[in-house]
Amino acid sequence: TVGAVAVDAEGNIACATSTGGMINKMEGRVGDTPCIGCGGYADNKVGAVSPTGHGEAIMKVVLSRLILFHMEQGKSAEEASDLGLAYMKERVQGLGGVVTVDPKGNWAARFSSLQMAWAAVQNEQLHYGLYIGEHFTESA
Ligand code: ASP
Repeated sequence: TVGAVAVDAEGNIACATSTGGMINKMEGRVGDTPCIGCGGYADNKVGAVSPTGHGEAIMKVVLSRLILFHMEQGKSAEEASDLGLAYMKERVQGLGGVVTVDPKGNWAARFSSLQMAWAAVQNEQLHYGLYIGEHFTESA
């Protein structure tokens, strides 16, 4: 997956998710990515989410919208992402990761999978978390 979330200067929020799907997928499989609320969701009032991971699990819990529900109830992007991922793991044994942002540009990159590379640009500053082999590097 390559996923992105963004907020512009006027507070407009967007998400985008692209994927090749899962290895050995069944012919005709439709994953989470094209399903709104599962493989992505954006709402100017709440925020945006773009996930990666087990598409079937993501769809069963409608992961992106679930995370935004938590944000509507006052959780931060980071807390809501962790709650959504923990629920997916507990409820349907699914692993994955998300990039999440709120209307003020507070963002989170969280995952329950073994690894997830991510990058964020905020106020012209680049932040990233990257695995190279077994080594994890994270910027400030
Ligand atoms: N979520 C995708 C799928 O199940 C896989 C991925 O993370 O790229 O199709």
